[in-house]
Amino acid sequence: MPSPAYHAPDTVKEATDLLAANKGAKPLAGGTDLIVQMQSGRMAPAAIVDLKRIAGLKEIREEADHFAIGAAVPCTSLKNNAALVAEWPGVVEAANLIGSVQVRNRATMAGNLCNASPAADSVPALVAAGASVVVAGPSGEREVPVEQIPTGPGKTSLGDGEFVSEIRIPRKAKGGSDAYLRSIPRTEMDIAVVGAGAQVVLDESGTCTAARIAIGAAAPTVLLVEDAGKALVGSKLDDAAIAKMMEAVSAACNPIDDKRGTVAYRKATAGVLAKRVVEIARQRAGGN
Ligand SMILES: Cc1cc2nc3c(=O)[nH]c(=O)nc-3n(C[C@H](O)[C@H](O)[C@H](O)COP(=O)(O)OP(=O)(O)OC[C@H]3O[C@@H](n4cnc5c(N)ncnc54)[C@H](O)[C@@H]3O)c2cc1C
Repeated sequence: MPSPAYHAPDTVKEATDLLAANKGAKPLAGGTDLIVQMQSGRMAPAAIVDLKRIAGLKEIREEADHFAIGAAVPCTSLKNNAALVAEWPGVVEAANLIGSVQVRNRATMAGNLCNASPAADSVPALVAAGASVVVAGPSGEREVPVEQIPTGPGKTSLGDGEFVSEIRIPRKAKGGSDAYLRSIPRTEMDIAVVGAGAQVVLDESGTCTAARIAIGAAAPTVLLVEDAGKALVGSKLDDAAIAKMMEAVSAACNPIDDKRGTVAYRKATAGVLAKRVVEIARQRAGGN
């Protein structure tokens, strides 16, 4: 099989032009999924468009209402950004569960999202944080909620010539925080059997005013479980509200049954992990 053409554009416009002009071209970020898939014969792109030479895509910017994380920022860099760690510890932790140090020095959250694995670790955390992405394409840019990018295992809503240029995470709400946990049979270097991300916002009395719960590896795509968030809002995260939230999570799950986990195991574990991430997020938010 011939090697694909390799392009290393300097600008977002050049990248979208190359992707549009080369049918079957794939963006390359860290390559920790793409290169592995090419070497195993699962993926044979016509051309590769390397995003890592585009200067603006390698930065984390702190804007008034959001953090902008360029599509070529490796996961390791996230934990070196003190402001991001302070506001979104769950997102940073999720991205830094991916693979090993060597993998994280290359791997990006945008690649994790666009690889469209239901088990991608950073995605439930991003969804819980209410993150969006900037999609660059031949007709300009559009902003899309993270949960609308994957449409099924290995499939995305990105059109011809489009790629994710930036991830935007809103500034943390006062009284808010987040968390992410996954269940794996080993201690590291494994794919989530189930993952859960949570963001909770508490007022001064400890009442939950907003909550977002997202589950990974429990359906064809990462799920934002809106009923789970609603079950917490207005409560003090008491046992009854948590039980209702867990029920909503388990009911939303539509997992596969495989050697790594049965349907029943994944549904039950999703609820338990959701309870634990809500508890961690509550503590981080300053609740008791
Ligand atoms: C040893 C090992 C361990 C791993 N462990 C984990 C783990 O624990 N958890 C986990 O979630 N993943 C894991 N992975 C998978 C992988 O490392 C992650 O999914 C990673 O975040 C992918 O990012 P990347 O930048 O390397 O993506 P790439 O490999 O460059 O790209 C992945 C896919 O997304 C597309 N793409 C990349 N960037 C963009 C963009 N900006 N816009 C549109 N499309 C784009 C590519 O064309 C490709 O189809 C592991 C991989 C390895 C090799």
